[in-house]
Amino acid sequence: MANTKYVFVTGGVSSSLGKGIIAASLAKLLQARGYRVTIQKFDPYINVDPGTLNPYEHGECYVTDDGAETDLDLGHYERFLNVPTSQANNVTTGRVYQSVIEKERKGEFLGKTVQVVPHITNEIKERIQLLGKTGDYDIIITEIGGTVGDIESLPYIESVRQLKWELGDTNALVIHLTLIPYLSAAGELKTKPTQHSVKTLMESGIKADVLVCRTEHELSTDLRRKLALFCNVKPEAVIQSIDADTIYDVPNLMLKEGLDNVVLKQLVLRNDDAPNLAKWDVFLNRLKNPTHEVRIGLIGKYVELQDSYKSILEAFIHAGVANEVKVHIESIHSEYIDDITIKDKIAHLDGILVAPGFGERGIEGKIKAVQYAREHQLPFFGICLGMQMAVIEYTRNVLGLQEASSVEMKPDTTVPVIDIMEEQKNITDMGGTMRLGAWDCQLIEDSIVYDAYKNTLISERHRHRYEYNNSYKEQLEAAGLKTTGINPKTGLVEIVEIPTHPWFVGVQYHPEYKSTVDNPHPLFVSFIAATKKYSQQK
Ligand code: GLN
Repeated sequence: MANTKYVFVTGGVSSSLGKGIIAASLAKLLQARGYRVTIQKFDPYINVDPGTLNPYEHGECYVTDDGAETDLDLGHYERFLNVPTSQANNVTTGRVYQSVIEKERKGEFLGKTVQVVPHITNEIKERIQLLGKTGDYDIIITEIGGTVGDIESLPYIESVRQLKWELGDTNALVIHLTLIPYLSAAGELKTKPTQHSVKTLMESGIKADVLVCRTEHELSTDLRRKLALFCNVKPEAVIQSIDADTIYDVPNLMLKEGLDNVVLKQLVLRNDDAPNLAKWDVFLNRLKNPTHEVRIGLIGKYVELQDSYKSILEAFIHAGVANEVKVHIESIHSEYIDDITIKDKIAHLDGILVAPGFGERGIEGKIKAVQYAREHQLPFFGICLGMQMAVIEYTRNVLGLQEASSVEMKPDTTVPVIDIMEEQKNITDMGGTMRLGAWDCQLIEDSIVYDAYKNTLISERHRHRYEYNNSYKEQLEAAGLKTTGINPKTGLVEIVEIPTHPWFVGVQYHPEYKSTVDNPHPLFVSFIAATKKYSQQK
């Protein structure tokens, strides 16, 4: 533990400044210098995890191999670092209190009054250092969710203060991410909100070591000096983070600003060799110089909010780069797809992806979209609920069983082609009770998916309650909807495809969670290749 160094990232002035991207970019630079780095996120809300949050509230729920339902920033960490995260990488106030209260009930506090300080703060400190104690990492970056000054952030800020004091300045460092707003009427960038937010941090006993300043315009030398002087940081520790075309530019922007250098210097770590970003730069270069473009419809019901399908959108970027293709995404609200609108919405596209989701709203539109893709030889990719809709569509329109549905939407359906598993039937809690995390899947060799993965055994992450009902398998296979991926332990169907269609694949799992810059997901890569072919033949 003595050798593990800690970097904390706090936020000021405004939310949504992109702490996750800054943390991931710094981690990338440190990793590219040979350090073993991980990132963790501490969220100040009372939900035990974001699994029970509506995507409109908090964006996508990201899922790790060990089945944790986590904040979407963990997705950025994995996409940037290509290293898996786990339950330990995301902690919420709800989880902290849950475990302190459990300890209290067991009598572990020996009659003491249990208080925010020291009991909650001790729990937070322990959890911050959990991954550090494994010896697997040289540097742990901890992102503190929320904005300083929020009531709910206080126990975290106090924990960081104590840890900094205990570990010392060469072992712990605080980066404060703030906003430098531009007032167009005055034609000026303003530093005052940042000064105030640094002061608020100071009132809690924490001196920011590094300021990362989000801005729409270049910060002048004078302004940087002013920020350094009034915020009490070294001039080289004022880092500009200017709006970028793509989040994947941010590591290079931070490198140019010397963020990694400032951090390594304070932590007294070697900083002599430059980070090796060769592979990253190849990716960026291809990202910026596509030779072709495709249009894909993303059909879902949370399409108003970009963050709801974050991992899918990023997986498309990775797969586009692998194919030298610029992927244009058209978000299509499934509630507005019907017999009249469908042509207008879909006919011009090169492929569709029917998104994951929960509940009844918009499912008929999804089923219509699947039917259109199936009948028009349009590349189709169904993920989780999207796969379930493909199975329902086939059962209704090819097998002719019009009553087909999922018991999630229609509990009394006479054709429950998507059903609930026995083990799930008596569960009444919502949080953490789905089929979650990584499961093995055995692929059939003569299939689209095998051609994509080039492997017969894969492992993918799940997050769902309902399953393909095996009692319809024989009929569906005979009618042409093949099952090409099966869970070897349970016999559950994980993949369906139509071999006579150019690219029609539905997967019960979430491939998007495992796509990274270094390892674009093979199914997304194969799907984009199919859409590229489709667009060239149009
Ligand atoms: N609602 C479906 C289920 O629970 C699908 C979930 C999803 O798409 N993630 O099985």
